[in-house]
Amino acid sequence: MRGFETRELVQGYGARTIISGLSMRVEGGITALLGPNGAGKSTLLTTLATIAPHRSGELRLLGKVITGDRAAREARKKIGFLPQEFGYHGNFSVYEFVRYCAWLRMVPQPSAHSDTMRALERVDLARYASRRMRELSGGMLRRAGIAQAIVGDVELVLLDEPTVGLDPEQRLEFRELVRGLAETATVLLSTHLVEDVAAVCTSLHVIAAGRVAFSGTPAELAAQAVAGVPGDTPLEAGYITALRSAAAAV
Ligand code: ADP
Ligand code: MG
Repeated sequence: MRGFETRELVQGYGARTIISGLSMRVEGGITALLGPNGAGKSTLLTTLATIAPHRSGELRLLGKVITGDRAAREARKKIGFLPQEFGYHGNFSVYEFVRYCAWLRMVPQPSAHSDTMRALERVDLARYASRRMRELSGGMLRRAGIAQAIVGDVELVLLDEPTVGLDPEQRLEFRELVRGLAETATVLLSTHLVEDVAAVCTSLHVIAAGRVAFSGTPAELAAQAVAGVPGDTPLEAGYITALRSAAAAV
């Protein structure tokens, strides 16, 4: 299974540098980007989704170094992205929304219908295919967002804060869904919630101020907690420890 790799990646907005020399490799499995608000998670995910070209450093997606527009466009066909906030026409049906996104991502037209239906089935929305987007509940809307991210032949799935706004039962469903996705694609999700990581991720990167503060497994993060840091669980204490040592290193 193929994923992505960054080396000394730099990204920013205007005069501001947000990500300054980030190196990370992810291949297969379910990986979390865990970090506080403002850490740069969404900036990294939009860069991996090739929405904004990176400023410098190396970005390799699905085995190919992204050198410009053409390479980015090729990679995008195999990359699904759920933005933190995504737009849609309220009047579109769920089917139309996913099919339209398939078209945007250049999913071949002969298979677009069956690919759309398959994506809706995977997120358990096939029954609601004809429902208007504006009539969906929060949980259904998020599943529609995931459906558009996985439609077609996707090898890398990027989900930005996919669990925000889900109730406990929807969270459980979501975890099952992500485990299913990981059977055929590399999954990277961002979150600021430690419990998401503990439940579903096989590896994680803690991001603080645009840098990697920790890379490893949830168990390894939990193991590095130092005595006395706050946290209700070992994982939370490990996370706080990683954030504190990152802040101390600046
Ligand atoms: P996270 O997703 O981890 O909360 P973001 O990547 O959204 O972090 O934001 C990282 C930093 O970049 C923040 O300081 C934020 O204010 C800034 N930022 C995000 N988007 C923009 C933008 N479009 N223009 C300027 N600054 C931005
Ligand atoms: Mg964000």
